[in-house]
Amino acid sequence: MSERAMAYDPGNIFARILRGEIPCKKAFESEHALAFHDINPQAPVHILVIPKGAYVSLDDFSAKASAAEIVDFVRAVGEVARAAGVAQTGYRTLANHGQDAHQDVAHFHVHIFGGRRLGRMITKA
Ligand code: AMP
Repeated sequence: MSERAMAYDPGNIFARILRGEIPCKKAFESEHALAFHDINPQAPVHILVIPKGAYVSLDDFSAKASAAEIVDFVRAVGEVARAAGVAQTGYRTLANHGQDAHQDVAHFHVHIFGGRRLGRMITKA
């Protein structure tokens, strides 16, 4: 995590899901990762994959997570996409970090979008 990055807030909504305080529509679970359907889907398939560890964003996760957590997480993303049926047709992964990327929930998550044509990359602000 860079010096300017936020400290992890254990009250964030994904931490609450991990603790079972609020429900989620679970898609997949492994030793170090949990996947669930986004509450406000932007595509027919819109699933979030999160690590079970307390990491604010990819910046934090890439710097501090163990090799086992990273391997498990990346494998989870692939597994979730295949199980959702979008590996053949195509999908997009997205991980927002920080203000410029408009990260809303400060627990690292990768979005998996699929099930329709997603257009090219990103739009201008
Ligand atoms: P981001 O802007 O990358 O931080 O995305 C946060 C995502 O979390 C958004 O797509 C939200 O719709 C989603 N989200 C927020 N609360 C929940 C929840 N309780 N269950 C599932 N998805 C959620």
